[in-house]
Formats: sequence, C-alpha cells, structure tokens
Amino acid sequence: MRVATSIPDLSTLLNSIPRPLGLVPTMGALHDGHLALVEKARRENQSLVATIFVNPTQFGPQEDLSGYPRDENRDLDMLRQHGVDLVFAPTAEEMYPQGFDTWVDVGALGDRLEGAHRPGHFRGVATVVTKLFGLVRPDRAYFGQKDGQQLAVIRRIVRDLNLGLEVVAVPTVRDPDGLAQSSRNAYLTPSQRKAAPVVYRSLCRAKTLWSNGERDADKLRAEVRAGLEGEPLVETIDYASVAHAESLDELDQASAGAMVSVAVRIGRTRLIDNLILE
Ligand code: AMP
Repeated sequence: MRVATSIPDLSTLLNSIPRPLGLVPTMGALHDGHLALVEKARRENQSLVATIFVNPTQFGPQEDLSGYPRDENRDLDMLRQHGVDLVFAPTAEEMYPQGFDTWVDVGALGDRLEGAHRPGHFRGVATVVTKLFGLVRPDRAYFGQKDGQQLAVIRRIVRDLNLGLEVVAVPTVRDPDGLAQSSRNAYLTPSQRKAAPVVYRSLCRAKTLWSNGERDADKLRAEVRAGLEGEPLVETIDYASVAHAESLDELDQASAGAMVSVAVRIGRTRLIDNLILE
C-alpha cells in the first residue's frame, strides 16, 4: 500500500494504477462501517484508493473539528490489511491552499435536515468530495447509507455536474445492539452509550408501524419522537423526518423507498441515523 500526502505524489502514483478504480473517502478514526465500504470497493474494482482527510470546511465554528478523533497509524494498518492500494491523506493546506475560493453549492438539498442544523456543512462536503473526485478520477465511489442525506447530495452533484462516475451506497453497519457505528460514538460516556441504541429502536418503531400498514407520515414521525422522548439522556431531537430519499422532500404519505431519519444530541454527542422503508 502506498501513501500520498501531496497532490503531485498522488498524481504520480495514480498514473500507473489499473482500472476500474474505486474510491472510499473517509475522515479516518476507522471502524467496521468504513471497512464495509472498503471491502465492497475491493471486490468490485481492480484498484482501490482510500482517503483520510478531516475536512475543516464541513465543520461549523462551534463543532468538533479540533476534538475529532484521529489515529492515522491505526487507520493505515486497517486499510493495508483490507487490501487498499493507495491512501491519500493530505493536510488541510494541501486541499485548501492560500487563495482557495471556489465552492460547490448544492442548493435546497443541502439546506434541510442536517443542513438546517449545520449551516454550510454540505457546501463543505460537496466541495471536498468534488475535489477528491477530480484528484482521483475514480470509476466508482463508495458512501455509507448511514449518512443518507450526504449520499443524496453526492448523487446530485455527480448528476448535476456530469462527473461521470458511479456512486455506490453501502448499508449501515451497526453494533449488536443496533447503534450505527460512528467515529463520534467514541465521545459517549458508558451511560450515554447504553442509552444510544434508542436512536435505532425509535426508527424501528416507525418501520413496524409502516409494516403494519400505516402510511400517514406524521404518525410515523410521531412514533419516532415518542421512542426518543422515552430516553431521558436524549437532550435534543433536531429532527425526526420521513422524506423522499433523493429529493429529501418531507412526505405526507409514506411510500416504499422513503427515508426515515433522525438527529439527536446525547450529552455533547450528536447522533444521526436513518432507515429506508421497504
Ligand atoms: P466519515 O469518516 O464519518 O466521513 O465516513 C466516511 C464514509 O463511511 C461515509 O461514506 C459514511 O457514510 C460511511 N460510514 C460511516 N459510518 C458508517 C456505518 N456505520 N455504516 C456504513 N457506512 C458508514
């Protein structure tokens, strides 16, 4: 496995790489969720590039950029063991040199749900992902269903800007108690960690209602909220949404393929999760 930290080194190493080429962008602090992306990409491509970059432009001023978990040596070991050919791990200066001033604005899709609570977040995501696509020029790029809005935003960028690559979604990897794996789970205290599966359980309550024939999206949202409100350690519910998985428009009537999603705060940790109704 080769590691490039500069753009010229990355370009040189990419010159001789066999195609098709898969890309797995990450912010590091890797867990089994990331590895599911890596494993799928490994199976489906001749070559595999992973990136590790804690992208400062997707963090708000009050968010956890400086405290975001980082362990690059461990990450590199894990990627090596999973057959990654090339890792790109640039510095912030490499990605955003002096004078950088071009942004990818994803419009309405980036303003709702997460975007409403994290202004500018998707502008940062869209910009860095577009840069990574330009730098690596993959045939396929792999993203987790865990970040359902991010997936919708990236699909839209690829479509609207004709980026000509395939976006592949990978199902959410969960701990045995249902908690979606996330680098931010490391912030949870033991009691908060015990409470956190309420997020998935609440989504499942809506799915059960749906399976029993309920189509009124307000009832499904209320069911999710009722589940979350039953857990005293859930301090804030940012949203409980039933939306079209691509447009992210809130639905009156739920339909197959709709995304039920939530964001809550437990202590200082913000957790997001979602389920697709089938
Ligand atoms: P991050 O490092 O948090 O930016 O995540 C990098 C990629 O891994 C994104 O495409 C995420 O959606 C994906 N990912 C994160 N957690 C999970 C998970 N539990 N299951 C599947 N994919 C995940």
